[in-house]
Amino acid sequence: MVGSPAVVWTREDLRLDDNPAFAAAVAAAGPVVPVFVWSPEEEGNWPPGAASRWWLHHSLAAFASRLKGVESRLILRSGDSIRELEAIVRATRAGSVHWNRRMEPAARAREARVASALRDLGVEVRPHAENLLFHPEDIRTGSGGPYKVFTPFWRSCMSGPGPRPPAPPPVRILSPQSWPVSLPLNGLALKPEIDWAAGLRAAWKPGEQGAAAQLREFLDGPMAVYPEERNRPDRRGSSRLSPHLHFGEISVRRIWHEISEALRGDPGKVLKQAARVYLRELGWREFAHHLLYHFPDMAERPLRPEFDDFPWARNPRGLRAWQRGLTGYPIVDAGMRELWGCGWMHNRVRMIAASFLVKDLLLPWREGARWFWDTLVDADLAGNTLGWQWTAGCGADAAPFFRIFNPVLQGEKFDPLGDYVRAWVPELSGLPARWIHRPWEAPQQVLAEAGIKFGRDYPLPVVDHSEARARALAALGELKRRPP
Ligand code: FAD
Repeated sequence: MVGSPAVVWTREDLRLDDNPAFAAAVAAAGPVVPVFVWSPEEEGNWPPGAASRWWLHHSLAAFASRLKGVESRLILRSGDSIRELEAIVRATRAGSVHWNRRMEPAARAREARVASALRDLGVEVRPHAENLLFHPEDIRTGSGGPYKVFTPFWRSCMSGPGPRPPAPPPVRILSPQSWPVSLPLNGLALKPEIDWAAGLRAAWKPGEQGAAAQLREFLDGPMAVYPEERNRPDRRGSSRLSPHLHFGEISVRRIWHEISEALRGDPGKVLKQAARVYLRELGWREFAHHLLYHFPDMAERPLRPEFDDFPWARNPRGLRAWQRGLTGYPIVDAGMRELWGCGWMHNRVRMIAASFLVKDLLLPWREGARWFWDTLVDADLAGNTLGWQWTAGCGADAAPFFRIFNPVLQGEKFDPLGDYVRAWVPELSGLPARWIHRPWEAPQQVLAEAGIKFGRDYPLPVVDHSEARARALAALGELKRRPP
């Protein structure tokens, strides 16, 4: 006997592989109605930014085509989640609604409201596991509280039985007798009106297939050298899975499992070490969600409350120069242009660029978090908030504020030949490696040969780093002198 239809409310879980909500709905042996409701105003202070919307458009297109491959469809709606889901339940006479949980505070509040409204309607509500290896409630300190320091958090995660194995995707999904009305994808107006996304298109393939290909490419190549290369923006040393993970196009349990499989095939020491380092980075993603779950205010306020009173500067010109990649510090500018050009920035450069905004320009970390939010294709409330609070020294287990990145030395260490700078700041491409991270010190003749005139081709530094460093430390001193 065919059961009553089940609705699957999809959000940041745009895949069929190891998708608990789909697995449960399909297992009930009735028709399944996959639904996506576009409701940015329900995301609290953090509705998806422009780059995320671009990604979402293409991810939804890819997911709709994935569903077509198993004889199903994706129903698109826009507006109030409760109203749209209720309408779909009524139209299809569905008996249950499934979804995979999300951890962000606004998403959790919305899930609670949706669950209550659907229960009032007499519908069975079935929330399933989020796209994490470890649920934030399951990892607790000895005294039962949440962790605030990464190393013991990760040790505690790794001391358990490990995540459950991923479930395979369904091969066929039963359709309802009639499909509810769907908006066309363009009706969600996610794509920019003026097409600025050529760089994003060239760099990424949103969707489940693109995510699987990206993982394969990483496992077959950079994975073995990940510990050495992951800090090098001039190499392709990291997995670039972050946007795929954010949109749930790949299951983090699948990644865990694939890495374990690779180790079984080749238990060599090098690969073992690489796997350990990579899984630890996934651990930072877990930690970010753990913190946001237990400290839901942290996207708005520093975890160290004393930083609420930090004497930040007002510097709209500096902010603009940073956003446009025109600070005069090549590694910062390369990072900010990479972000603008392809919606992503290498982790090491994120730290350098964020430190520059907060410590050299003395601008509030939330200004930077906002800009990243709008421009990153992997913008993720947990990861972005952790990254910014960590850099600004006001978060859990953060780099102390007084540790200030020197953008010249960082550039020379992690982009030693200047290839990364040359790729994103072409006006400096004629400079030899020796000067590329400190062009203002280059002799006149070198500058002339490279065709660089300051102010015409490239700016002089907007601040002097050593003066800025002293100013930042003085601001920290002022904060410390204030009464609590
Ligand atoms: P890999 O090195 O291949 O790592 C694998 C995965 O682990 C990543 O895809 C990511 O999901 C996770 N991961 C790795 N490092 C971190 C980390 N430090 N914190 C949390 N997760 C991590 N990451 C986001 O996903 N979204 C963000 O909005 C975001 N904003 C950031 C802002 C700042 C200021 C900083 C310093 C870091 C931010 N990060 C963010 C973390 C990190 O920079 C990216 O996850 C990483 O660069 C993604 O590249 P990858 O997939 O090649 O990483």
